[in-house]
Amino acid sequence: MPAIPFPKKKVARETALEELAILERTYPHAVTALEYANEFQLLIAVILSAQCTDARVNATTPALFAKYPTPAKLAAAKQADVEQIIKSCGFFRMKARNVINCARDLVERFGGSVPRDRESLESLAGVGRKTASVVMAAAFQEAALAVDTHVFRVAHRLGLTLGKTPRQVEDDLTALQPPRKWGDTTHWLIMHGRAVCKAPTPRCAQCPVATLCPTPAIISRTLTARARSNGSAAPAARRRRAPSARKKA
Ligand code: SF4
Repeated sequence: MPAIPFPKKKVARETALEELAILERTYPHAVTALEYANEFQLLIAVILSAQCTDARVNATTPALFAKYPTPAKLAAAKQADVEQIIKSCGFFRMKARNVINCARDLVERFGGSVPRDRESLESLAGVGRKTASVVMAAAFQEAALAVDTHVFRVAHRLGLTLGKTPRQVEDDLTALQPPRKWGDTTHWLIMHGRAVCKAPTPRCAQCPVATLCPTPAIISRTLTARARSNGSAAPAARRRRAPSARKKA
């Protein structure tokens, strides 16, 4: 399948709300797939999950938290030891440095606790807006919507946003939902992106939002255009090959 362009127009607000309502019914138990026992573990797991699957992080963190169960223990860890444990998560040198420095920040500036406000969270090593949003929503039930690669892609395909940056997508999505639903909206879009609206090929035939979503029509137009261009290119290619073929004969 050729690359599918995102819709160039947003759907009407009523349509957007209906799409989100369907996703809410489809994924009633939306929670983060990361496994954690407390806010500290969630924070570290989210840092490790950058450019890595949640399943891989879940396979890694038990050994990490067995050895370093508290911010103080992780703050005192040797980087090489942490690197060894988290190696399979990718970017392990940078992530090891970040989780150790983050733990140091927690110990030195927040008494060993994870802060719950965005400004404090984003001041921690390795913590950006998305990580802070996940921790705020999942650990503290604060109103926060995190835009990862699934949220970005699915929101675009559904015509909920034309945003070019995660922040613009976040602003469009939060304008559609009351704050109490921001965290769940993140999970609906992530779960839908993983299960149905996959990259690069969405499973529109199995999608409960297909009748409202603008992307199936775009896919259809893209495939038709591709078939036409292949059809018209073939004779031209044959014409180009013909002289040398005759020469050889
Ligand atoms: S209809 Fe297709 S593109 Fe739209 S949300 Fe469903 S799977 Fe994704």
